[in-house]
Amino acid sequence: MSKMPNLAEDFVKKMFLKYYSECFDQVCIPNLFKKREFGGLLSKERIMIRHRKIETAAELQEFLCSIIPSDVYFSSAYYEQPDAPEMNSKGWFGADLIFDVDADHLSTPCDKIHDDWICSKCGFAGKGISPEKCPVCNSEKFDVKTWPCELCVNAAKEEIIKLLEMLKSDFGFSDKEVHVFFSGHRGYHIHVEDDSIRTLDSVARKEIVDYVCGLGLTVAFGRSRYNDSDALNLLRTLRLSNYGWRGRIAQGVYNFISNAAREDYQNIGLKKNFVEAILANRNMILKNWREKGTLPLIKGVGVKNWSKIAEHCARVQSANVDTVVTTDIHRLIRLAGTLHGKTALKKMEFQPSEIEDFDPFKDAIAFKDGSTSVLVHSAPEFRLGDITFGPYKSEKVELPTAAALLLVCKNRAEVVSDGI
Ligand SMILES: [Zn+2]
Ligand SMILES: [Zn+2]
Repeated sequence: MSKMPNLAEDFVKKMFLKYYSECFDQVCIPNLFKKREFGGLLSKERIMIRHRKIETAAELQEFLCSIIPSDVYFSSAYYEQPDAPEMNSKGWFGADLIFDVDADHLSTPCDKIHDDWICSKCGFAGKGISPEKCPVCNSEKFDVKTWPCELCVNAAKEEIIKLLEMLKSDFGFSDKEVHVFFSGHRGYHIHVEDDSIRTLDSVARKEIVDYVCGLGLTVAFGRSRYNDSDALNLLRTLRLSNYGWRGRIAQGVYNFISNAAREDYQNIGLKKNFVEAILANRNMILKNWREKGTLPLIKGVGVKNWSKIAEHCARVQSANVDTVVTTDIHRLIRLAGTLHGKTALKKMEFQPSEIEDFDPFKDAIAFKDGSTSVLVHSAPEFRLGDITFGPYKSEKVELPTAAALLLVCKNRAEVVSDGI
């Protein structure tokens, strides 16, 4: 929001203040909040106000209404002195386990359509996810323009569904410890609050991340150190009922064989004669595997081919999370029930079992009344609630407040008259 004109900035501030004054009951006060650090971003000044200690709900409301942050954060960590200005004098005594899945890190078919980046140093520009380094000047700083597109948010949701399954089946957490949130922009967060993980250090958290991402996972029967008969045994005993990654890969291979077309096999590097052999025996393989429990081997398709399929399925089954967020034991994370500065949508908690029904572009709308006239520079077609808007190109439109705020917060529109 760095280049937002004053009228737009005043409009956003006024609406955010209205929300924190009138709808403060929607802001979630975290467990053990007196032991957490709080912070807020002042978008205009690009200043982060942090190291704040909050003792009561009224104090939190006072903080939000006085500085009117564009984004509100609290620490995943618990501290003896959350307001100590130096991290090492805060007295860290634990942290929740946090996972962040954001469309910014996922490659989707549409990111080249609605996302742009431009190198802050030399101005070189491109579409889709920004590279790690500018191909022209090697700078690592980019101005990124993204869009909270439904397809991209759905891609993030698919990763969260896989992660939820692992947290439940492999780690044994229940819905009581696992909290799921829509981030308010382009992704989802999971917070695990439990004694068993509270004091884990970064290294231990990295191991958890590696596990859910399937990092360092090798499909043993494809490795050369196994002789053929050992490899065959490992493959034959790949059961749908196995626990953990073994079962997950078995299930993945089963699903792949159920659905894959010729090109899908070829895309993962299988030669034509192997593909034909599998396709010709598809129903037999699936039926025997289901009923007898072990993968039936077929003539002409060796261990190497099965390992290619299994490796592909392991990648598909892994959960693509932002590793940095989980391993950072001092992380500040967005507070649920507060507004996202890039959308004016709420970070919202919902039950893990409701993930398929939760509609971020409806359930996370904070402003349900009123309308505002805006001059839209450019915006793709988007939906909020049951209404579809746009696409717009240099036009003045009167929009419901939530839609106008979204465009203004995304720097896609200017306020013409704020309607009050
Ligand atoms: Zn550059
Ligand atoms: Zn998209």
